[in-house]
Amino acid sequence: MEGITLALQLKDKVRGQVYANEPMSRHTSFRIGGPADVLVVPRDIPDLLALIGILSDMQVPFHIIGAGTNLLVEDEGIRGVVIKIANTLSHVNRLGNGILRCGAGALLPSVCRDAALKGLSGLEFASGIPGTVGGAVTMNAAAFGGFVAELVDTAEVITYDGHQIRLDRENLEPGAKTTRVLAEPLILVEVDFALKQDLPERVQKRMQEYLRERACRQPLSLPSAGCAFKNPTGEGAGRFIDAAGLKGVSVGGAEVSRVHANFIVNNGGATAEDVISLMKHVQEVVYSKFQVMLEPEVRILGG
Ligand SMILES: Cc1cc2nc3c(=O)[nH]c(=O)nc-3n(C[C@H](O)[C@H](O)[C@H](O)COP(=O)(O)OP(=O)(O)OC[C@H]3O[C@@H](n4cnc5c(N)ncnc54)[C@H](O)[C@@H]3O)c2cc1C
Repeated sequence: MEGITLALQLKDKVRGQVYANEPMSRHTSFRIGGPADVLVVPRDIPDLLALIGILSDMQVPFHIIGAGTNLLVEDEGIRGVVIKIANTLSHVNRLGNGILRCGAGALLPSVCRDAALKGLSGLEFASGIPGTVGGAVTMNAAAFGGFVAELVDTAEVITYDGHQIRLDRENLEPGAKTTRVLAEPLILVEVDFALKQDLPERVQKRMQEYLRERACRQPLSLPSAGCAFKNPTGEGAGRFIDAAGLKGVSVGGAEVSRVHANFIVNNGGATAEDVISLMKHVQEVVYSKFQVMLEPEVRILGG
């Protein structure tokens, strides 16, 4: 079904925003990606439940995204519906006993700032990770030795057939850049973080230190999707890429960052094909020099 026809049908049935033939380059930090047939930002959880019910009755495929900061969308775009969980489901409330309850669409950097103001410690290491709480927990985002999913007390998820379930941390099955949410897949809608009480100024100070360190290490002024490859056990993927002499190597508008070898940056006008060709080249060169096969960390959608 054409994007416009499907969008018109959905507009009658959901309360959130519905866009037809929406360029995904507007919804990814890479600023790359062809159009999704339809993109929907549901208004709330009942709206999301109604939407996935309608799509499954119509047998239309759907894909969940957060803020698109770990995504590479193919140049051909995405068939079916993209459901965007950013700037929606974005409540942040403090409960008792150090629990911070966050909607999956809340942006992680602002949740970290909020936690610091409230004197809640634990998330400082994550304050510079862009994207949503939902994306960070789903991907078990990590920095400076800390893992976001390890801070979860419980999380509310929705199955693709519309059941709502609350999982504890163990049942989220956090792994290296994955959780059960990604593996099944499920839709994460709310997270309770278990944090510790501390003085707000101490939490803020630690947060600022992490942010400063990140600004020195990462190419934050150019579009990217963070680390392109997962770190092989006990080693940094960036070290292999750097040692292979690949910093600054480019294909079209995509370049291996000169600041951080595990970042691929969009120097302007990069296509998904440029990025994928560059990633393949990096994998081949690193394998031929060190017999290490790098595994993509960035999630590739569409095509
Ligand atoms: C400059 C920069 C720095 C970065 N630094 C780090 C870093 O230090 N550490 C790190 O781990 N990552 C880092 N990243 C990568 C990225 O920011 C994180 O992985 C982030 O947590 C992804 O969140 P998102 O909302 O953008 O998810 P998206 O990119 O939108 O989605 C990522 C995956 O999660 C799934 N998903 C997202 N939300 C949900 C949901 N609510 N329910 C179910 N599935 C969902 C999507 O289907 C997709 O498979 C960086 C990225 C950039 C651009």
